[in-house]
Amino acid sequence: MQRSFHQIHDDRCIFAFGPSNNTVETVGPGSIVRFKTLDCFSNQITAEDQFVTGIDFSRVNPATGPVAIEGAVRGDALRVKILDIAPGAFGTIVTVPDAGVLGALTKQATTRRCPVNEGIVEFCGIRIPARPMVGVIGVAGDEEVSCGNPGRHGGNLDTTLIGAGATLYLPVFHEGGLLALGDVHAVMGDGEACVAACEVPAEVTVEVDLCKDLAPAWPVVETEDAFSILVSNEDLAAAFEEGFACAVRALAKANDLSWEDAYMLASLVVDAGVSQLVNPRKTVRVRIPKTHVSLGALLEALHTEA
Ligand code: CA
Ligand code: CA
Repeated sequence: MQRSFHQIHDDRCIFAFGPSNNTVETVGPGSIVRFKTLDCFSNQITAEDQFVTGIDFSRVNPATGPVAIEGAVRGDALRVKILDIAPGAFGTIVTVPDAGVLGALTKQATTRRCPVNEGIVEFCGIRIPARPMVGVIGVAGDEEVSCGNPGRHGGNLDTTLIGAGATLYLPVFHEGGLLALGDVHAVMGDGEACVAACEVPAEVTVEVDLCKDLAPAWPVVETEDAFSILVSNEDLAAAFEEGFACAVRALAKANDLSWEDAYMLASLVVDAGVSQLVNPRKTVRVRIPKTHVSLGALLEALHTEA
């Protein structure tokens, strides 16, 4: 099929990923798709005297789409390469009483608006280099999951690695996969401490493709020199345990090692990190350098457990 270009507008969005999602557009593998996205508040906050406590919460965390990919069937991996993220000119960050890592200390709703210009985010006069990333990106799973929560289908992963140049592999559950994305951040630190980042409307351009019969058990993000497995769970320790179990399977397969040897190799070369600590399910990542695993071995090792 010919590579084609498609544009999806921000008035076509979902608030939960699931089997009832209706396709906005169908595209062929290899297509380029530009998603226009609202910010995570559906652009409802436009001034610092507006607080998150006063907005329509049913419109929080919109994801533009979903887009169906021709030929995608259950068991395939959907490959999404992030080509470009163009953030809007202003970002919004808020505090929410009882939310975030320091929820118990957070008594007041506060809003800050941050100009985003030429790669710089300005917060309270402090200049911060922008690192645009996609917070919500996923496919329809077997059950309906709010766009505020992450899981095996992707969703609210809030992972700083999902920026331009990265490639995400998501498991396909339904015909077409049904890709949707939103919740772009102009910049965010790992953890997303206060429950928000520099929330921006944006234009996100991706290339979509398929890896047949290689659905991974969890989303995998490929960056220049590593693959990171993204695992989400209410319990942080359980998320890390599952992440390392996946990494050890992948290292055993890629290097033809016993489970014990792969476990020790993981202890030598795999880096564990936190993506976000503030969604109902927390997201962690385990990072395996490309020197020790190929994409094929990784997806095969994760697929057998799917
Ligand atoms: Ca988010
Ligand atoms: Ca966000």
